[in-house]
Amino acid sequence: MTEKVAAPGGFHKTDVVIIGAGPIGLFAVFELGLLDLKAHLIDILDRPGGQCTELYPEKPIYDIPGLVEVTGQGLTDRLMDQIKPFQATLHVGQMAESLEKAGDGWRITTDAGTQIEARVVVIAAGGGSFTPKKPPIPGIESYENTSVFYAVRKMDRFSDKIVVIAGGGDSALDWALNLQPIAKRLVLVHHRDGFRAAPDSVNKMRALVAEGKMEFHVASIKSLRGAEGQLQGLALNNKERGDYEIPGEMLLPFFGLTMKLGPVANFGINLHENLIPVDTSKFESNVPGLFAIGDINTYPGKLKLILSGFHEGALMAQQAFRYCRPDEKLRFQYTTSSSSLQKKLGVA
Ligand code: FAD
Repeated sequence: MTEKVAAPGGFHKTDVVIIGAGPIGLFAVFELGLLDLKAHLIDILDRPGGQCTELYPEKPIYDIPGLVEVTGQGLTDRLMDQIKPFQATLHVGQMAESLEKAGDGWRITTDAGTQIEARVVVIAAGGGSFTPKKPPIPGIESYENTSVFYAVRKMDRFSDKIVVIAGGGDSALDWALNLQPIAKRLVLVHHRDGFRAAPDSVNKMRALVAEGKMEFHVASIKSLRGAEGQLQGLALNNKERGDYEIPGEMLLPFFGLTMKLGPVANFGINLHENLIPVDTSKFESNVPGLFAIGDINTYPGKLKLILSGFHEGALMAQQAFRYCRPDEKLRFQYTTSSSSLQKKLGVA
C-alpha cells in the first residue's frame, strides 16, 4: 500500500474526513484532491476496497465506464493508483465511532482513540461497517480482546504464543501464513478439509504442515478452557477422533463478516430506512457539512452502483470546497486541458 497509513491513536487535522474506504470513498479522494482538498479515510477493515475486496475480489465487474472487465480487487488497485498523487491518510482497522461539532467543523473519534478534526465529513459507509461473525462457542466473550481477536491489529501481540486460527477463507489462510513465522506454534482449525481461500495460500499452508511447521485440524471448536480471560486450551471435536483438547493461548476466529449500519446511526443525521437522504445537487445530508455518497445515501432514482457513487463524489467535492475554502473562487476545469490539474496529478 503506497498511501500513508496512520498508526492508531493521535490527533489529526485535515480538510475532509471520509468514513469508509470502499470504491466510492476512494474515488472521493481523487475528486477532492483535484480541488486541493486533503482527505483522511477511516475504515474498520484492514485494507481498502469495501464490498469489492471483501465480498467479491475475484468477481468481474462489467459496468465501470471505460473498463470492459475488472475484478473487485482490480478496481480497488486501480483506484489506489489513481489517488496516489493526493497522499490521503488511511486509518484502517478502525471504526469511526463518534462525531461531534468542533468549531465550525467536526471531530471524529475512532474506537482506537484516533481523533480527526475536519471542516467537512463525508459518509461513504456503504451498507454499514463490516463486523465479524462470532462463532457459537459458549463463554467466548470472556476471552475477547485478551485471548480472542476477530482481526489482527498488531502482529507482535501474537509473537511467541500458541495461536489457533479458525476458519477456511482467505482471512484465515492469509493470517495463518503471516503469523506462522512469529508464533510459538500455529494451529489452523477448520470443520472440513476444503477451503474457500486462494489455492496458492492453501498450497503454502499444506506445505508448512507437511514440513511440521504448523498444524491443521479438521475439527470444530466446542469450548474454551482458561481463567481470567487467558486462554489455555480448546476442546475440539472431529468425527474420527471424537472430543480432544489442544493447547492454545490466542484464538483468531475468521468466520466471515456481516454489515451493520453501526455508529453512523447515532451521528444525529436524518435516516430513512437506515439510509441517509441527500440533496442531489451536492449530496449533503440534512446537517450542513455532513455529506453522504455511495450505497449509504438515498434519493429519488438512486441506483446502488459504483458509477453512481463516482458522480456523487464529484458533486460533493464542489460543495466541500465552498466550506473548506470560503474565500476562494471555484473554477471548473478539465483534467485533459488544465496544466494546473495535470501538475497535481504529476503528469505535467
Ligand atoms: P462499500 O463498498 O460498502 O464500502 C463502505 C466501507 O465503509 C466498508 O469498507 C465499511 O467497512 C466502511 N465503514 C462503514 N461504516 C464504518 C464506520 N463507522 N467506521 C469505519 N468504517 C466504516 N456494483 C456495480 O456497480 N457493478 C457490479 O457489477 C456490482 N457487483 C456486485 C456484486 C456483489 C456480490 C455485491 C455484494 C455488490 C456488487 N455491486 C456492484 C455493488 C457495489 O459493490 C457497491 O455499490 C459499492 O461497493 C458501494 O461502494 P461504497 O464505497 O459506497 O460502499
